[in-house]
Amino acid sequence: MDAKSAASASSTTAKRKFIASGRSIDIYAVECKLCLKWRKIDTQEEYEEIRSRQREDPFVCNKKEGVSCKDAADLNYDSSRTWAIDKPGLPRTPRGFKRSLILRKDYSKVDAYYITPTGKRLKSRNEIAAFIEANQDYSYAPLEDFNFTVPKVMEDTLPSTTTVHGGLTIRSRPRIISHPRKIIN
Ligand SMILES: [Zn+2]
Repeated sequence: MDAKSAASASSTTAKRKFIASGRSIDIYAVECKLCLKWRKIDTQEEYEEIRSRQREDPFVCNKKEGVSCKDAADLNYDSSRTWAIDKPGLPRTPRGFKRSLILRKDYSKVDAYYITPTGKRLKSRNEIAAFIEANQDYSYAPLEDFNFTVPKVMEDTLPSTTTVHGGLTIRSRPRIISHPRKIIN
């Protein structure tokens, strides 16, 4: 019952396409503070909401409707997927924008960028400031809510055939993750 849906979700073709251009996150999960089981979170919006409040209001199983700590985990932290662990407390993406995280092909790093309501890709705070300056319709979006802190790729979940570039470090296991997947076999 752990993550079978996720495992079968992408066909080989889709997987290859992803590899060519890096991969996006396809599962979001959070760890229960009490039982330490991982729960799948259905949408990025919901995940970001949980992450933004994680310090003051840690996630527990029964925040998910119909779920309690007695239920089996939705997925397990292991190397059947590649995991990237987010920092708790990052702000929610302002309304109308989308935060996109892409895992590099070589698994070395996750890159973050924002997609504006007009479909532009912005890769830094400066670009965002310039965009908002030029498009006052979006001046409701606070600059400090755009955050380029990226989740850490967890070395112990990399596919075994991957060569790691750069120094990856494993930290103690934080409670909230975002979760790129797909292993090259
Ligand atoms: Zn629990």
